Amino acid sequence: MKPVIALVGRPNVGKSTLFNRLTRSRDALVADLPGLTRDRHYGEGRIGERPFLVIDTGGFEPVAKEGIMKEMAAQTKQAVAEADVVLFIVDGRQGLTPHDKTITDFLRRQGRTVLLVVNKSEGMKYTSVTADFYELGMGDPYVISAAHGDGVHDLVGEALDAAFASRAADEEELEPEQQGIKLAIVGRPNVGKSTLVNTLLGEERVIAFDMPGTTRDSIEIPFEREGKHYTLIDTAGIRRRGKVFEAIEKFSVVKTLQSISEANVVLLLLDARQDVSEQDAHIAGFILESGRALVVAVNKWDGLQSDQRDQVKMDLDRKLDFLGFAKTHFISALKGTGIDQMMKSVNAAYAAATANLSTPRLTRALQEAVEKQEPKRKGSVRPKMRYAHQGGQNPPVIVIHGNALEAVSEPYKRYLEKHFRDTFSLVGTPLRIELRTGK
Ligand code: GDP
Ligand code: GDP
Repeated sequence: MKPVIALVGRPNVGKSTLFNRLTRSRDALVADLPGLTRDRHYGEGRIGERPFLVIDTGGFEPVAKEGIMKEMAAQTKQAVAEADVVLFIVDGRQGLTPHDKTITDFLRRQGRTVLLVVNKSEGMKYTSVTADFYELGMGDPYVISAAHGDGVHDLVGEALDAAFASRAADEEELEPEQQGIKLAIVGRPNVGKSTLVNTLLGEERVIAFDMPGTTRDSIEIPFEREGKHYTLIDTAGIRRRGKVFEAIEKFSVVKTLQSISEANVVLLLLDARQDVSEQDAHIAGFILESGRALVVAVNKWDGLQSDQRDQVKMDLDRKLDFLGFAKTHFISALKGTGIDQMMKSVNAAYAAATANLSTPRLTRALQEAVEKQEPKRKGSVRPKMRYAHQGGQNPPVIVIHGNALEAVSEPYKRYLEKHFRDTFSLVGTPLRIELRTGK
């Protein structure tokens, strides 16, 4: 599971500036996708090989002055509870304020690891910028400039070390070969996740029901279907009760993000009896951003009239058109219909996401694409694409080498993506194209 870092502090200390800096590289991937709404308060970041999730509690600040703690307690509490480490940000230019003290008291009661971070400290001496803040009793402050980036890398390194330390190694992992396809079932409350889990597990032999590692809120259940192995991972929003799984009320973005990032394939469950909501679109956006393979299942298809069914399909086309690469199934988790076909798509999506694409085949496909349609000149330069190799799996990354590739337009990149997708039948997985210009 990726460690979770929460950014907490009063307004204007620089939380969103830091958030943007930590998640910036990720934003670029989805920036130009139409129809995609993103929740600006959750993001993924990475330093070196270490990925993490960031929560910015910035948007939760109260409008009215009174009741600040009430509001924070309500809104920020969940973020803090779900975090492994809290970065408590204060403003080095403004110095200590009474609000900082109130927040300190609040954080003390939450029992999380807290790192005190003095922001806006560019060009200032450590001793002078931190002097004020020792009074908070949070130890030596970390000093950064979110705007300029000073100290941010070290801070995140420390935060991740602290996260790993606080997370006892109590989660025993299964052997990889036993796990098979790691599957996450995500969707907002009431769409039928627990019903689907029970249907999947009820019909087929569950390899081991009482697994170690199903302690706390984490669920990892291996099961077998049609001779294939799967592991259901940490499905957010459901909890085990005896032999069956039941929905829990709360929707947790963090848990959803974590299940997505742990999975090979994500099953996005929607409710045919409800319009596609903003929350559905958010979750879809997270999946897309994660690069995981995806199957969409529209649940509660039983008993709908044909005009209602048409209505649902139109709504989907309109609101989730950016998921065009994924197969959609219309199922009834309750009656068990459509499940076999849906699982076939899960297998196919996994196969596509983990396909081995050899350099000669990729290069041939690239040449075909260019023969059909050459990239346009940009000014006097014409991009020249020479060869392609596979740079990753789940999602597949296709790296194209050549010259002047910075002149390749976005539409042309999408054309290439479609060509590779068609050539290698890559259904159910996002595909990433990287252009590398040699000198
Ligand atoms: P938030 O309300 O805590 O999310 O704060 P913002 O990220 O919106 O930042 C508030 C203001 O502080 C903005 O004008 C930022 O440009 C500025 N700011 C943020 N980080 C720094 C920094 O490292 N140095 C300086 N000088 N200003 C900063
Ligand atoms: P969760 O919150 O996503 O885990 O949703 P649940 O599995 O608890 O289901 C919410 C409600 O939808 C329950 O009352 C289920 O009985 C009902 N439900 C789930 N799947 C179906 C289905 O395929 N058809 C119908 N008609 N109802 C369903």
